Amino acid sequence: MTKVLDGKVALVTGAGTGIGAACARALAGAGAAVACTSLPTDPYQQVVDSIVAAGGKAIGVPLNVTDPQQAQEVVDRVAAELGGLHILLNNAGITDDQLIIRMKPESWRKVLGVNLDGVFNVTQPAVKVMMKQRTGCIISISSVVGLMGNAGQSNYAASKAGIIGFTKSLARELGSRNITVNAIAPGYIQTPMTDRLTEEQRKALLAGIAIPRLGTPEDIANVVLFLASPAASYISGEVINVSGGLYM
Ligand code: NAD
Repeated sequence: MTKVLDGKVALVTGAGTGIGAACARALAGAGAAVACTSLPTDPYQQVVDSIVAAGGKAIGVPLNVTDPQQAQEVVDRVAAELGGLHILLNNAGITDDQLIIRMKPESWRKVLGVNLDGVFNVTQPAVKVMMKQRTGCIISISSVVGLMGNAGQSNYAASKAGIIGFTKSLARELGSRNITVNAIAPGYIQTPMTDRLTEEQRKALLAGIAIPRLGTPEDIANVVLFLASPAASYISGEVINVSGGLYM
């Protein structure tokens, strides 16, 4: 049976856990060959193994997105080994929350370094491959916090808002090359990132969500699959909120 992403190659950053792992599995399930990348300490090889066990195609490659040279090498290796690069999912991200009066410059730089510089570092070499192919799809995981702000997360919000400006600019630059560029803004999704919330914080959060539950990584993967599919070929420069109505 043919699948919607047969013949496509995808690269996912931060693919060992949470949203990245769910998206890698979903892309592979739809027929794409998936390069699962993340920090060497992350369990991305388990994601590769589960994809291969399910009959899909995947490879695991260590990639710290803060290292531009490594990003270039990994993109080139993936394109050579898997036969091009059609879908880039910029998913790797971190938080280091603190109110502004207590935020250390290192905390600001660390979060911007992974969440925003990291997106630039991987996207630039990927765009070169996609331009040569004259086709491609770039999806970056932003956050509703980048749209609405959040007390204690000025560094994270700035990084996620930065992704939105980056996305819209690239959509304008690359549309004529048949490359779409979009962002997804998740609300609160059940992953290792939100496991740190206390029960009290969780209750307060749910009170503000129209659909009163945390999202699942699969809720995000469904939208990634749609944006990566030919059905979304006329969608570019968009930010799609997947927040259960937390932000509208
Ligand atoms: P997660 O912590 O499970 O996933 C993030 C992954 O990125 C981890 O595997 C982590 O090791 C990896 N990573 C961290 N630094 C890296 C680096 N320098 N290089 C490569 N990989 C690195 O959390 P998640 O919730 O699955 O987060 C995925 C993305 O979704 C992040 O960008 C996050 O900001 C975003 N997001 C999450 C939520 C949520 O509620 N969980 C909401 C909005 C946005």
